[in-house]
Amino acid sequence: MESQLSNTSDGGNPFSSDGEWHRGNLHMHSTNSDGARSPEDAMAWYCDAGYDFAVLSDHRVVSDTTALATPDFITIPGIEMHGPDPFTGEPYHILGIGVKSFERSDDAWGPQEAIDRVNADGGLAVMAHPYWLGQSAFDMRELDGFVGMEVFNSVCDVTRGKGFSNITWDEYLLQSGRTWGFATDDTHWKHGAEGRGWVMVRTNDETSAGIVAALRRGEFYSSMGPEILDVRVESGGVRVQTSPVSRITIVAARANGSNYRAVSDQLTEATHELRGTEQYLRIEIEDKDGRRAWSNPLMF
Ligand SMILES: [Zn+2]
Ligand SMILES: [Zn+2]
Repeated sequence: MESQLSNTSDGGNPFSSDGEWHRGNLHMHSTNSDGARSPEDAMAWYCDAGYDFAVLSDHRVVSDTTALATPDFITIPGIEMHGPDPFTGEPYHILGIGVKSFERSDDAWGPQEAIDRVNADGGLAVMAHPYWLGQSAFDMRELDGFVGMEVFNSVCDVTRGKGFSNITWDEYLLQSGRTWGFATDDTHWKHGAEGRGWVMVRTNDETSAGIVAALRRGEFYSSMGPEILDVRVESGGVRVQTSPVSRITIVAARANGSNYRAVSDQLTEATHELRGTEQYLRIEIEDKDGRRAWSNPLMF
């Protein structure tokens, strides 16, 4: 029996929808900014690694990657924008994914203007690597219109040990409301960051626009390796099924939630009984090698 969740048809749960799964990287750089590979070689790496799509998101510039698509590989235009952030006092890093007519960003834009311009162009604004930036959920409280933040950024993990922004995400969910969590590589082709953080998007629309629309609706989960196979809201509870892992956490507001641990990846399912005070629920799993995966939040 389905619960009375108000938003199960409101996106954020790809396990309750139809469609094929598509693996993609949303954040990487090329020789068009500070990356060490050409756009051609960068896209070819992800295509050869079995990804279904990738976004080239160079600093301050959008590159036309349509010629690099193949029948089995979708390329999506993107950008990483920078400018003064009055909330942190440091430059912001905001991704614009799936922009259509953008060519360059302007370092004079504040963060809200950058977000607004991406939205006006049909794209998705994502707050990049907040932990690495020193950007808190409080710093984001007055910003409006971004679809989510990077819960994992591989290059920030590899080079500074600051890849995981799950606490920032939880603080935002608690204080400000629903937003999506994205895992990305932020590949610069200098640090071995590639292939460590991706999104699994569920859609039957296998086009650049279709992937962007599914991302906007939250019809994806993020991973470094483990798979989330099902998240099912049943009467009075939530049931999760995964590939073999050593930890399954059902994360909720404040003192709510459940945590299951086992050695040697012996867990494949877990349940959480609803107390009614969860406010939100999201799934986080981890395998014996420290690789995690994250579902998007269901709100209560
Ligand atoms: Zn950045
Ligand atoms: Zn970057």
